[in-house]
Amino acid sequence: MIRYECDRCGESLGANDARRFIVKFEIFAAAGHVELSDDARDDPQSELDAVMRQLAEADPDEMEDQTYRSFRFDVCDDCRKKLIAHPLG
Ligand SMILES: [Zn+2]
Repeated sequence: MIRYECDRCGESLGANDARRFIVKFEIFAAAGHVELSDDARDDPQSELDAVMRQLAEADPDEMEDQTYRSFRFDVCDDCRKKLIAHPLG
């Protein structure tokens, strides 16, 4: 039998336990389109080259953290209630 435990308080929970809930978080960049400077408009290839150099040198994990991350947690009923009351702690 698969057993779970609450990721918040450690309470033991069964796979089909009515007291087990799943919490998902998604964190993603809110920024929309990029505003180009006058210099970038005059020389878009140079601006694109600079962006490509930055991407090539960047840490892939850090880039992912800055654009999109998702998390999934199992929680018990008591912790579900606490998270609903104060989702950001
Ligand atoms: Zn709990």
